[in-house]
Amino acid sequence: MIVLVMLGPPGSGKGTQSSILSQDIGIPTLSTGQLLRNILESDSDSELSSNIKHIIERGDLISDDLMTKLLIEKMQNPECRQGIILDGYPRNVVQAKILEEDILTKFSCEKLYVLYFDLPDSEVVKRLTGRYSCVNCKTQYHKIFRQPKIPGKCDVCGSERFSYRKDDSEASIKQRLEVYRIQTSQLIEYYSQLGNLIKIDAMSSIEDITLQIKSSLKTLGMDNNINLGNA
Ligand code: AMP
Repeated sequence: MIVLVMLGPPGSGKGTQSSILSQDIGIPTLSTGQLLRNILESDSDSELSSNIKHIIERGDLISDDLMTKLLIEKMQNPECRQGIILDGYPRNVVQAKILEEDILTKFSCEKLYVLYFDLPDSEVVKRLTGRYSCVNCKTQYHKIFRQPKIPGKCDVCGSERFSYRKDDSEASIKQRLEVYRIQTSQLIEYYSQLGNLIKIDAMSSIEDITLQIKSSLKTLGMDNNINLGNA
């Protein structure tokens, strides 16, 4: 199994690139944020949902134990056998160690690649306000940066229903950025020391970023295991 970790501030394009890469190279994306939002949608009355909902809407992190348990459950899916793209996990050094010492061993991961989406803070806020997604297939769009090709119609599934995230409110964005600065950004140093970090210029266009990612992965030999197509 190959694991690709998407690391970067909220709004830096991790979700967009995860879905493009998933489609292009045929390995699924596991977005821990989406996993939690799915639980909220499908099981809104449970105690678990009400705990998760408050934490997400505040912009804080769910406990490492719960997040890890949910992730491992999903990774058992045979679809993940060849590889997965992890969008949103790890979020701090504790989770990075759990990933390395427990999860990657359990699933016999041969190689871990960490893509770091480098984006200035001013751009992060601009991008978070204005993003929305397809209610049906969850493809992400943005009022300015990524609109559906046919206005009002999802490019992937054709649905005409879209929604905004509750945690893209001003207060929650502020807290999420704070959590990113204090906890998640430590992973940049952590993975550069391990020699795993691939820095991506997240200011480029969506198409350029995809090319940057594929060519870096190719240089590192990922296409020995997974077909990266033209890069
Ligand atoms: P995201 O969709 O990645 O922006 O995640 C949305 C929210 O889900 C975050 O602000 C957290 O509250 C929660 N979340 C997602 N992934 C994790 C994780 N690995 N650890 C803890 N909380 C998480």
